[in-house]
Parts: sequence; structure tokens; C-alpha cells
Amino acid sequence: MFAQIALGVPLRRLFDYKIPTHFNVKVGCRVEVPFGRQLLVGLVIAIKDHTDFDAAKVKEIKRLLDITPIYNQQMLSTLAWLQSYYLCPPGEVFINLLPKKLKEGAPAELLSEPIWQVKESASEPSARAFKQLALYHFLKKTGATTQSLLLQDGFSHTVIKQLAEKKIIEEAPLPPICKSVAVERPEYSLNPEQIEALSQINTLSQFAVVLLEGVTGSGKTEVYMQAMQDVLARGEQVLILVPEIGLTPQTLQRFQSRFKCQISVLHSELNDSERHNAWLKAAIGISRIIIGTRSAVMVPAPDLGLIILDEEHDASYKQQDGLRYNARDVAIKRASAEACKIILGSATPSLESLLNAKQGKYLHLQMKKRAQAHPPPMPQLIDIKHQPLQAGLAYGVVQAIEHHLNKKQQVLVFLNRRGFSPALICHECGWVAECKRCDKHFTYHKNLQQVVCHHCGAFDRPPAQCAECGSSQIVDWGVGTEQLADWLESRFPEANAIRIDRDSVRRKGALENKLAAIQKGEHQLLIGTQMLAKGHHFPNLTLTVVVNLDSALYSTDFRAVEKMAQLLVQVAGRAGRADKPGQVILQTHFPEHPYLQTLIGKGYSELQDLLLTERQASLLPPYRFWCLVRMECQHSEKLLACIEQTEALFNQQISVHYQGVELFASMPAPQEKRAGRFRYLMIFSAKQRSMLNAAMRQLVLSLEQNKFAQAVRWSIDIDPQEL
Ligand code: ADP
Ligand code: ZN
Ligand code: ZN
Repeated sequence: MFAQIALGVPLRRLFDYKIPTHFNVKVGCRVEVPFGRQLLVGLVIAIKDHTDFDAAKVKEIKRLLDITPIYNQQMLSTLAWLQSYYLCPPGEVFINLLPKKLKEGAPAELLSEPIWQVKESASEPSARAFKQLALYHFLKKTGATTQSLLLQDGFSHTVIKQLAEKKIIEEAPLPPICKSVAVERPEYSLNPEQIEALSQINTLSQFAVVLLEGVTGSGKTEVYMQAMQDVLARGEQVLILVPEIGLTPQTLQRFQSRFKCQISVLHSELNDSERHNAWLKAAIGISRIIIGTRSAVMVPAPDLGLIILDEEHDASYKQQDGLRYNARDVAIKRASAEACKIILGSATPSLESLLNAKQGKYLHLQMKKRAQAHPPPMPQLIDIKHQPLQAGLAYGVVQAIEHHLNKKQQVLVFLNRRGFSPALICHECGWVAECKRCDKHFTYHKNLQQVVCHHCGAFDRPPAQCAECGSSQIVDWGVGTEQLADWLESRFPEANAIRIDRDSVRRKGALENKLAAIQKGEHQLLIGTQMLAKGHHFPNLTLTVVVNLDSALYSTDFRAVEKMAQLLVQVAGRAGRADKPGQVILQTHFPEHPYLQTLIGKGYSELQDLLLTERQASLLPPYRFWCLVRMECQHSEKLLACIEQTEALFNQQISVHYQGVELFASMPAPQEKRAGRFRYLMIFSAKQRSMLNAAMRQLVLSLEQNKFAQAVRWSIDIDPQEL
């Protein structure tokens, strides 16, 4: 007998190995096999009684690593789809998606980790030790919880240690698989919109996609939780996917207080052991709820009964390097393989999902009212043409900030540009300090006393002199978050301003600490980028100022307006979430622009309808499917030669066989040079996904076999989100 095995090597093929007669090898198990001079871990994809190679030369499997398969049939078929849809080597999905230790051949066994519970006879800690008291009450409510989960809930090592030393909490044994999940009663009854949405969801059995469009604060999370309740009660597992930064301690605690069961949480900040355990607990069935970011979509769950994907429009679901999958699309495939339903939630659905809903492929449910409090505020447009600006802010806007601060409320100032200023220029001749490897402006970071390239990360000391004319009159141009925060701090010293962007939260845990301080009301004035826009709930926030989104109106990226609208709605949704009404101000040079007028005057849905019409007229996604081939090389002649040959190859050998597949564009990348390499794009498009997939499979094979393509670095991106 022979096994077909996927190995973690960059080759687009499987490998045959002989099965020793005394080995009970099953599909979905890991094995160890000789490969060249090394031993590699592989996954058994199929078992067969013959091989197409010379049987005498086929090597034997060396060791069997799993007795029971680590992937079941549904998972294997989802992974097989992933490989064939994204045209990648099998090892990329079957091996490289495993947690590190399993990938290296470690046994599929849980590593020991502390699990804590309240001791039976223990008395309550004193009310003065409020952190200890909080942990005590939390553990009483949730029952035995792993240490790593407690840390993610926002409890510190110190507090855990203190309670353990006082013998108030103790280590608990690993809980057995328990399929019946106790549910805490919700705090309130659902409102009519929620009842309607939930009953529609509950009538679905089998595979179905639900697009739940609900304004921020409409109570989507509550609907998710009540939909989960039935599924968990039936003994099935639930997978919840959230964007990169969506999972705050509050969100996690909300699920833990409602459902008494083991929960696996997976995201990029786990260490290898934590990920190993979280993955295995889901795969074994100990965890009944799995919450995670993008890659959690591929965590096995033997009894999967429901998938929830929150903020479905979020760009972080698309991986931007290596295996460039979109977790939303994979999740839908997975739900179909598992024959379960999937809920896509968002206040601002993507055009892709809206079109699918309009075409009847998804069930479209809407919730238009906020569950509590006030309706989300309509942004006000402030025309900043010809207005004097201070740190980018108009006079009237500064007054509005003062007004809200005086009422002891919080204000969020949003600017999607970090650093002190986006450029340093020569006052005499107009020379701009640029990164030589990218031909792009350096951003000035005053605190670091550096100029930094936001494209490749290169940095340098700020130039003292102009490289063109030698003048020492170097001035900063434009405003970034650093400068904005500096200015606001000196203008409103009482407000204890806090800046949140990628630079200010580099340290692990810094973001959590800052968010917690904001929650506690330690800061009245918040300055930040995207990072502050999503998911957070700041009850005392009543004013949001959006400094500038104008560049989206005239961008070369056809998705820029869609993304701008999503961002604006998300940012606006931060204001007035509790009992005080909110106000949102958008500064712009183009208050009359039809996109802004439609969004502000008629709302997100109307703007999306307008954008859909435009996309249809210009034959753009989601009305066409795209595959992007990126090519880069240090030598521009070699690159251009490769492009020419690829075009010829496509025209002569591929397009003739695959109807309707066209080379939509062949052009230099928007950022033509990055980190010393010239970059080029080829966009292939088709009306039918399957046809495009078949043509691209052919193209990839040809590129792999042709010498000309070896001179450049190329990669393939199916359904690209960015150029
Ligand atoms: P979303 O996920 O749509 O932004 P949430 O589910 O977080 O909304 O709900 C927003 C707020 O409203 C939360 O504080 C939540 O506890 C509350 N809430 C949700 N449903 C109800 C309800 N039926 N009655 C009262 N409050 C509710
Ligand atoms: Zn100069
Ligand atoms: Zn650079």
C-alpha cells in the first residue's frame, strides 16, 4: 500500500511513500518520512494500492505520529479547497497551518498549564483589594479557567499569585469533554429587531449564509450569543472570528459570563505553547467555543455547528503575504463542508457580501436601531477650504472640542497618518527627504528624532541640510498624529491627552493598558488612527472629529471610497454609545462631493448602491473576479522582459483555451519601487470564478517551468484586496 503525503516544501505536488505492513496509517494522520537527507513531517492525504512512480524506488514511511487523525474529513476537504482555490503548494495548507509544535512532529497532546478555580471553603477577599475581589467574582462565575485566558481577560500575574498564596484559589484538573453547556440568563429581553433576526437565524438548518447588517450598538453581539445558545445546547461547537484587534478583554468576558464552558482563544500574540493548547482543545472537543482572528478559521472542531464572523468587511481577514487567503471566504466554504450556518455581521457590509445578498445567495437581515441610547450620530461636514488650520484643525472644530471637554466628556480625534509630519521639505528649493529604496517621502518622527519610511521601515537621522541646494531651512509639511497630539496637549492640558497608533503601542500589552485607562476615564482626549476606530466601547465619548479623509475621494484604488465610508461609519459609531447623544465632525475640502453628499445625506446603503452601479458599469469586482500576479526584481530590464514574455504566454497559450479570461491590466505597481526592487502588476479578470481559476492554474504551471520567470520574484494573489 502507498500513501500520498503533503510535505511542508514549496513544491506544488504530493509525494508517494510505501506504508510498512505493520503501520495502521489513516488519512489525516501525521507521519515522518525521509526526504533527501532529512526527515520531514507530512500529512497523509490519501491511501492507494499503486503508485505512478517506480515502486522499487519509493521510500517507506519512517514513523507514524498520530493514531487518530488530526484532521477529519470535513477539515480535509476544506483544506483541499483552500489549496486548489489559492493555487498554492499542498504543504502550505496541510502542514504550515499547524501550530509550530505539531508541525515539528510533537505528539498531539495537551501541554500542562495552570487552570484556576475558587477553593470551596474560601472566603471573599477584602473589599479594599478590589483587583483580587474582581478575579474572585469572575472565577466564581466562570468556573475553572486557564491562566492564559485569565491574562487575556485583563487579570495580571500578580493578582493571580496573590489569591493563590492566600489559598482563595487553587489549581484545578483539566476538565473532561463536556458537551452540555450551561447558559446564564441574558440581562435583558431582545427588542423587536433582534427577535426578528434571531428567529430567522433559528429557522435555518444545514448550510446557509446570513448577512446580519446592524448599525453599531444595535445589539448584534446579543443576537450572536442567543443564536449560539441553541447550538451549544445541542452539543455542537461555535467558531467566532473577529478582526485583528477586535478582541478586547470586555468582549471575551462577555462570552465567558454567558456560557459555562471551555473556550479556546487564538490570535497572533499567543506563544507556541498557548497556541498548541488552544488548537488541540478545540480539535479534541474540550473547547466548545473557539474565538480567534483570521487563522482560527482553520482550527479543527469535531462538532462544529455555527460560525460567526464579526465585522465581515474588515480588511484584516485577508492575509497579505504567503498564503493570501480571505478568512471570510474560507469560513463560508468551511460552513458548507460542515453543513452548518454562518453569520456574517457588520454595520458596514462589503460590496462583495451585499451583492451576494442582493442576488439571493445570502439571507440579508437588518437592524437599524441602537439597542440602547441614541441613534448613531450623522456626521457634520465642515468645509476647511481657505480656513486657517492649527495642527490640521479648523477654529470651529477646536471650539467644539473645548465645549465637550468642558462638559467632562471624552473626545476622539481621528487621523489616519502617524508620525509628526508626513514629509520634510527644503523651504528654499522644495527638495523632499525621500527613502532611496522606495522613492517615497520619509515621515518625520519627532520623538524618535528620526525620519522613517512607512513603506519599508528604513530610518535615518533627520537631514540637517537640503541635499539639493545645501540650505539648512528644512521644514516639516503636513500633520501626523504625533504633531496633532502635541498641539492638543498644550491647548488642552487638563484633558490628559492620549495617543494610540502603531508607534505608541509597540510594546506587548501597551494597547490593552491604554484602552483600560481610557475606559476608567483617565483620559478625556483621545488621538488615534484606525486602531481606535473599531470595536471599542467608550461610554463617555460624545464627540468624534475626523481630521481628513479627502485622499480617498481621488484615490487610484477603486475600493478607497468603500473603505473610507466604512471607516467613517465605524468612527462615528464610537460617539454617543451610552446615555449622552453623540456628535461627529468631518473636515473636508470637498463638502459638495457626491460620495460625501450621498453618505451623509442618505446613508451607507445608498452609497453602496451607487458604488455597486459604478462597479458594474466599469466591470470591476464584485462583478468580475480578479487574480493579481505581482512581479518584482532589482533590475527593471529583467522585470520588463519577464512581463513581456508572460503577456505573450497568456495571449498565445492560455486565453485561447479559457473563454472570458482577460488580461485586464499590466502596469507598474502604485508604489513602483519598494525596498530597492521594481514592482509590476498583472491583473487577470473573468466573470466566472471557476474559469479564472483554471486559467491561472495553467499560468502558474507555465511560470514555474519557464526560465524567464526565474529571474524575478513573482507571487499570485486571488481576489486581491490591495494593489
Ligand atoms: P453591536 O455588536 O451591534 O455593536 P452590542 O451587542 O455590543 O451591539 O450591543 C450594544 C449595547 O447594547 C451593549 O451594551 C449591549 O449590552 C446592549 N444591548 C444589546 N441588546 C440589548 C437589548 N435587547 N436591550 C438592552 N440593551 C441591549
Ligand atoms: Zn533645497
Ligand atoms: Zn523605503
